[in-house]
Amino acid sequence: MVFKNSIDLYKKALNLIPGGVNSPVRAFKSVNREAPIFVKKGQGARIYDEDDNEYIDYICSWGSLILGHNHPKVIEEVKKIIENGSSYGLPTKYEVDLAELIVEIVPSIEKVRLTTSGTEATMSAVRLARAYTGRNKILKFEGCYHGHSDALLVKSGSGLLTDGYQDSNGITDGVLKDTLTLGFGDLEKVENLLRNEEVACVIVEPIPANMGLIETHKEFLQGLRRITEETKTVLIFDEVISGFRLALGGAQEFFGITPDLTTLGKIIGGGYPVGAFGGKREIMDLVAPVGRVYHAGTLSGNPIASKAGFATISYLKENPNIYKELAENTNYLLDNVEKLAQKYGVDVCINSMGSLFTIFFVDLEKVENLEDSLKANTENFSIYFNTMLDNGIVVPPSQFEAHFLSIAHTKKELDRTLEVMEMAFKKIGEKNAK
Ligand code: PLP
Repeated sequence: MVFKNSIDLYKKALNLIPGGVNSPVRAFKSVNREAPIFVKKGQGARIYDEDDNEYIDYICSWGSLILGHNHPKVIEEVKKIIENGSSYGLPTKYEVDLAELIVEIVPSIEKVRLTTSGTEATMSAVRLARAYTGRNKILKFEGCYHGHSDALLVKSGSGLLTDGYQDSNGITDGVLKDTLTLGFGDLEKVENLLRNEEVACVIVEPIPANMGLIETHKEFLQGLRRITEETKTVLIFDEVISGFRLALGGAQEFFGITPDLTTLGKIIGGGYPVGAFGGKREIMDLVAPVGRVYHAGTLSGNPIASKAGFATISYLKENPNIYKELAENTNYLLDNVEKLAQKYGVDVCINSMGSLFTIFFVDLEKVENLEDSLKANTENFSIYFNTMLDNGIVVPPSQFEAHFLSIAHTKKELDRTLEVMEMAFKKIGEKNAK
């Protein structure tokens, strides 16, 4: 495969954009690659780069594209309005349509505010929780990523982990003091902390997917719900990834646990920029212009994004078997990965939930939290990543992210993926044997 055009673009970008990319998770530095691929177009389960190489895609816009690239239903709906105008700074029908669908489907949401990104949604939800409780401190879990607002960039996951750190520079001591952190899954410590400190909210990815995927125990979320209720702490489920992916109603429907506030993003924009936070009416009515918790946005609830999100969610709602089929396809793939790992003597721990998975290159029975996840062999991951890419399969360029399937990944794509995975596992096995 030739990567010349991508390499040339990257060299140019390096002089113009920090690190040549507009989000660090797009860099291929940690997997020892000269340059990331620059994408020209996508169709179904596939993407095509500027050198016209074709790939099966397991990033799917970091989970946004559960229907695959350019799903005809989404395109059809977007086309209906794209020539009308782009954005008005005044309300449109499409925001109301999307809000109505979200309120109907997501159990905890009685009212919702649309934003432009997941970062904005979590930032605003935390502010709202502070205003509602009159408390300053918040609790988050090590390795969970909730976007890049100051308060949430402490002991964070995703691109920070990939680059070997967890707290961003540039955060004030005050913010650091107010963001408390604990290991994911440690209910005893949560109970202890919440009974001894005044905490405004607990924010959690109900299925953490930003330190690699963690398979949450339901009892942990049940415990969080119980303790937060008893201590009058706001429970925020950050469902930017899990919303409309783990089940139509997200992780809260899947586990049967209702948080006070929920944040959404990715799928609800059908691949366009979007986010949302919502929850109990009583809390949401503190948001301006009803209350005095300020949230605003020039492009909040953008009509094209709202239309694309509405089309995506409507399709998911009309085809409820999608979730079962996605899980079956994921299991088919992973059962075979397990066999490959055994055949070539490669230590792996595979975590999966629904259509999300991470292959941890680690000698552990289970990866349960950040401490476990950091034990993974990133050198083996790098061999895996590069073998996949050089043979037409794009997986996340980091051990600490999840793979995403879409409904466009059929048996054909999965079998080709397994063929290439076999090459990767063979290489890793041979390296280990030396
Ligand atoms: N929350 C979670 C769980 C995420 O995974 C992300 C992004 O990946 C965010 C929040 C931030 O969303 P955005 O990238 O749209 O700002």
